[in-house]
Amino acid sequence: MDLFEHQAKELFAQYGVPVPAGKVARTPQEARAIAEEFAAAGTSRVVVKAQVKTGGRGKAGGVKLADSPADAEEKAGRILGMDIKGHTVHKVLVEEASSIAQEYYFSFLLDRANRTFLSICSVEGGMEIEEVAATNPDAVAKVPVSALAGVDRVTAREIALKGRLPEQALEGAAELIERLWAVFVDEDATLVEVNPLILTADGQVKALDGKVTLDGNAEFRQEDHAALEDEASADPLEARAKAKDLNYVKLDGTVGIIGNGAGLVMSTLDVVAYAGESFGGQRPANFLDIGGGASAEVMANGLEIVLSDPSVKSVFVNVFGGITSCDAVANGIVSAYQLLADRGERVDRPLVVRLDGNNAELGRKILADAALPGVEQVETMDDAAKRAAELAAAGV
Ligand code: GDP
Ligand code: MN
Repeated sequence: MDLFEHQAKELFAQYGVPVPAGKVARTPQEARAIAEEFAAAGTSRVVVKAQVKTGGRGKAGGVKLADSPADAEEKAGRILGMDIKGHTVHKVLVEEASSIAQEYYFSFLLDRANRTFLSICSVEGGMEIEEVAATNPDAVAKVPVSALAGVDRVTAREIALKGRLPEQALEGAAELIERLWAVFVDEDATLVEVNPLILTADGQVKALDGKVTLDGNAEFRQEDHAALEDEASADPLEARAKAKDLNYVKLDGTVGIIGNGAGLVMSTLDVVAYAGESFGGQRPANFLDIGGGASAEVMANGLEIVLSDPSVKSVFVNVFGGITSCDAVANGIVSAYQLLADRGERVDRPLVVRLDGNNAELGRKILADAALPGVEQVETMDDAAKRAAELAAAGV
């Protein structure tokens, strides 16, 4: 999960990483009120920053300095509602403006290719680090970090030196880097990036921007992280599926997909996309893995979520019986229809079912005998994908 800049900075502050003081506003009036608080405390210059989970806000006009509360209101009015790379701005961060002497780059990340943690540090910050790496690779230090040894003040200072930070920034940067390591480890992050890390005119080192990615696999031991989730921008179907413990990802096609096992579902997406080319470009509408068990309840929940998507015109249930045999899955589908009927839901779009593997014969017979309306069985995955795409095309 990626955090907003203001969330990243709130986290930084908890760990003693220096950040400019600031608050979030959802309206221009709120932005003005925050700027007035700063003005009353003696700071009249503020910066108004779009809160969207994408980089390059500065270039897109999403970061603006304001000289007065009235100016802050006007700038917030221009930034709120803006579209930055497909993200609508719903809130802005209003911060005391910093007077910048120099801008650097710093990050900790998980380097999967080399199976280690990595720190990246550069005296050239503010712009995209990929750009600096391309034009001036010598100015970008990449220093592996041992998970066991971690980063103490000495290591932090070495990293800052390798990034060619100047003498007057070294102590401040080392302290900040050591604290960012604590954020990275204690919060189970896979990325902590500060761009720019600044040296202010009066010699302080601060995090002026913050990007944090938290590792979803650590959710079980990070209870506080649930509160950081952005419900406003989460897909409502994905949120409902998550509440039902389903492994569902919304896609933009017309063929609903339900399968058992992530690998099978992923190849089903490919096969459907390929088959769909012959039927006006029908594509998968979702990824849904109901896992090994595939009980009637899980099948009913899965069908309910997939059918709640109005762009779904047909559903392809692709099951390869393993430990859970096909007769159990077939019974699951039959009971799922009953469960849905009990809930007042109706399966109103065609279902193509392919059962193969353990006890496929019996599974097919159970489904055939049940004669559920709209359910068709097709024996092979390729043919079933074709039929599902054909039915989707007919339903569009
Ligand atoms: P990004 O473009 O999404 O990475 O947003 P940043 O938070 O990094 O801001 C972009 C640029 O705006 C920074 O590199 C700074 O040059 C500038 N900026 C941001 N805040 C301030 C500030 O308080 N004072 C000044 N002078 N410039 C700022
Ligand atoms: Mn930035």
